[in-house]
Amino acid sequence: MFVRAAGAYLWDEDGNQYIDYLNAWGPIVLGHSDRRVNQAVFDAVNTCDLTGVGPQLGEYQLAEKICAVMPSAEKVAFCTSGTDATMHAVHLARAATGRLKVLKFHGSYHGWSDHVAVGGSRSDLSSESPLNTPNGGGLHPAVVDDVVVVEWNDFDGLRGAFDRYGSELAVAFTEGYVHSFGCVPAQQGFLELLRELCTSNGVVLVFDEVKTGFRAAIGGYQSICGVTPDLTAFGKAVANGYSLAGLAGSNDLMGHLGAYTKTEATIDGTYNGSPYAVAAALKTLEIMESENVFATLYGLGTRMRSGIEKAIAEVGIDATVAGLGSEWCVYFRRTLPTNFREAMESNKEQYARYHASLLAQGILEPAFVTGDRRLNAATTEKDIDRTLNCVRVALEAAAS
Ligand code: PLP
Repeated sequence: MFVRAAGAYLWDEDGNQYIDYLNAWGPIVLGHSDRRVNQAVFDAVNTCDLTGVGPQLGEYQLAEKICAVMPSAEKVAFCTSGTDATMHAVHLARAATGRLKVLKFHGSYHGWSDHVAVGGSRSDLSSESPLNTPNGGGLHPAVVDDVVVVEWNDFDGLRGAFDRYGSELAVAFTEGYVHSFGCVPAQQGFLELLRELCTSNGVVLVFDEVKTGFRAAIGGYQSICGVTPDLTAFGKAVANGYSLAGLAGSNDLMGHLGAYTKTEATIDGTYNGSPYAVAAALKTLEIMESENVFATLYGLGTRMRSGIEKAIAEVGIDATVAGLGSEWCVYFRRTLPTNFREAMESNKEQYARYHASLLAQGILEPAFVTGDRRLNAATTEKDIDRTLNCVRVALEAAAS
């Protein structure tokens, strides 16, 4: 049980302190319980709570800010979680195109609505399992049948899927840089091919930037890779831990968000754009820019990855490390994975020993083998150097 969080650290109820490299799977980007963000929230709480009758000033200011930094954003709508955002993205794409099918990549996680909670099962990955195996129980089979799943970085598979289903697809989902099974970039030309196929087939291209948005860069991974989606789903780091998510896209496409007609999708929600979360986001983005937070995150991330690489070489274990900015993943295999199946071939027994050793040394990392990890901007070089000593011990435990 965790009872306290501050800066780079968590404490459990027995008083043990951990350096946190989970950071709640992404939202905590400046640091835990950031006082400046909390103060902005307290100010909002004491000024104007939920109204439910129309946008509040902060929502407008935040939308303007996101439009200024994110290439795909001309209009923004807010909701409360990544699951919300990706579900609304499907509805919006269907309303705009009049089509039903959804394309996504194997292993990529986009939340739990039936339209996308497919093709990411870790327990059912045999060579006979279809790529569109549901992630869990309770999904409607008719909805699952409409999901087309392609292996990540499979150029021919992607062309084949568009040849077969191009005229039926409403939407194609991708993480620009995959964190769902660690840290696996698109191979050169893959995102460009996806962009081209979506454009030529009239399919709405959605970048799921729930993890990369406001973490890989303030403008999201799209501002790094140079491929601009039609629609972006974002969440997590935008508000440093307060529940805020949203959709951003062109005026034309976002114009299909509205009332209750066939060509309009609805994005109503009691807590959408809550003034507290919006205040947290405005302050978070202000600090990101005024304190050059991305230079800090990238500098610390590079220090971590190169230190891990050195430790792997010194211990002489078959392992690799990959990552971007503040994120990384250690795979217990000789080469970097290029897709979900390869990532899942990472040695689970070695990973279990690695994870247990780190935990015992006060380093908190994901408990499962392909989990991506990340640091927040309150982490110090001293924390990283201490972590690297622990990583060396953990690699020795993994190798034993
Ligand atoms: N999309 C991606 C890429 C995610 O990593 C996640 C959550 O981890 C989601 C969507 C769902 O977001 P949430 O947990 O806010 O519903």
